[in-house]
Amino acid sequence: MAIFDTEIAIFLIPRVMSEELFKKITSHAKEYGFIFPSSEIYDGLSAVYDYGPQGTLLKNNIKDYWWKAMVQLHENIVGLDAAILMHPRVWKASGHVDAFHDPLIDNKDSKKRYRADQLVEDQIAKWEAKIDKEVKKARKRFGDAFDPRKFLEESPRIQKYRQLVEETRRRLNEALAANDLKSLKDLIDELEIADPVSGSRNWTDVKQFNLMFDTRLGAVSDASAKIYLRPETAQGIFVNFNNVLKTSRVKIPFGIAQIGKAFRNEIVARQFIFRMREFEQMEMQFFVRPGTEKEWFAYWKEERMRWHLSLGFDPSLYRFHDHEQLAHYADAATDIEFKFPFGFKELEGIHSRTDFDLRSHEEHSGKKLRYYDPETRESYIPYVIETSIGVDRMFLAVLSASYTEETLEDGSQRVVLKIPAVLAPVKVAVLPLLKKDGLPEIARDIFDELKWDFMAAYDEKDAIGRRYRRQDAIGTPYAVTVDHQTKEDGTVTVRDRDTMAQYRVRIEELKTDLQRKLHLKTWLGSPS
Ligand code: ATP
Repeated sequence: MAIFDTEIAIFLIPRVMSEELFKKITSHAKEYGFIFPSSEIYDGLSAVYDYGPQGTLLKNNIKDYWWKAMVQLHENIVGLDAAILMHPRVWKASGHVDAFHDPLIDNKDSKKRYRADQLVEDQIAKWEAKIDKEVKKARKRFGDAFDPRKFLEESPRIQKYRQLVEETRRRLNEALAANDLKSLKDLIDELEIADPVSGSRNWTDVKQFNLMFDTRLGAVSDASAKIYLRPETAQGIFVNFNNVLKTSRVKIPFGIAQIGKAFRNEIVARQFIFRMREFEQMEMQFFVRPGTEKEWFAYWKEERMRWHLSLGFDPSLYRFHDHEQLAHYADAATDIEFKFPFGFKELEGIHSRTDFDLRSHEEHSGKKLRYYDPETRESYIPYVIETSIGVDRMFLAVLSASYTEETLEDGSQRVVLKIPAVLAPVKVAVLPLLKKDGLPEIARDIFDELKWDFMAAYDEKDAIGRRYRRQDAIGTPYAVTVDHQTKEDGTVTVRDRDTMAQYRVRIEELKTDLQRKLHLKTWLGSPS
């Protein structure tokens, strides 16, 4: 008997405008203990955030889901946890000292600082938005007779915008590839790009800005003691290549996976936890026989997308974006982009890194970083496919796809985070219907039993409806309610967060029921 929720039919409030939605998500994240600004009592530190009680649980679950999918379910992938501080020559060998920079430009009037390439990208996005608007207008005008493909090809206005987009993108890519800062500045001047804040076009020249944070090692303060906070976790894997090879029984192709903090002094840090100065990465370097990198690149593209889709969000929220302009180390690269409230943006990068890193570390360290292949009887530097995903971006993706506002049948509203149950901070809430008649005692016993297997919560304060809302707001997928019938027949109700449907289960079966729903296999299926 389902008795507690009167709201059976629900009406989804149409997804609010994205900017408004984004604001709601960020304030919800703070209000319910997911994310706080760092050092908030001192007015915060730009682009640095702390994770609160719910946020820590969700973040750990995201990391666990990735780690198990990569390390536990792949016999040939092992883990590593390298230090954040590394020998400074690592960053010379990796190319970060010389090439890890972004083009910076200042506006002389507003004193605001921008990434020059992003100003041009934003201009391109404006033209693309205009194309979209033209299409929407025409669709409205022509109704059923509207042929979008024909319209895109024939409308002179669209042709003009398309040419601008293509020509500007070509010039931007050329300037970036050639490190030609003057051409980049010329492009900004010619396009008459204005400071988005002040409208001023009074720009400085474009300079390169290295994104690595540096610090000093030990008590010496001369230049030789300068070291860096790692800007990516990958290099910790490369420099440990021999150690892992010697101590684990991996055979090519094999992977080394790592989760850890990375630091980048981003010029413009915005969009909440999307672009942070201190963040966390989940990276895996997969070492393959040279010549097989294309097929492994294709394999990891598919495998990583499968991981994302296993969470059950709408597949239309994801897309691949293959790179035309490649980083200095890559011969192929793609991003898995996610539809954040501010548009499709990179969530994960998959790169075919060739043998660049191991070869370069060989040269700089003088140590051989090779694999002896017993099948081909050759010793070679393996090629590498990298998968790299930001924990914080994944966290933001989960929050934005989960945040839902609903109007219930009785006219009341609820905010519910439809977080995939396997990632939810709290898995089950145990609630006595009333704070009397022996119900709290039974509920406490159930909670004390369940907490050994699941992150559980016990709550007896306020009316049952309000307690459900509290759990909905933090995304608890299941609520177990103890009522008078429990005393008669030993059953409780289990309420599903998303459908609000309820069913009765015997107390002894509760654990198995939840275990089945939350089991990794239920989500990830059989690994390939
Ligand atoms: P972007 O182009 O957005 O700056 P990137 O291409 O420099 O990202 P990578 O170097 O490929 O990023 O890093 C791998 C992953 O690390 C990214 O896909 C992203 O999820 C995450 N990441 C990178 N920079 C940041 C950042 N400043 N804040 C949060 N996550 C980040």
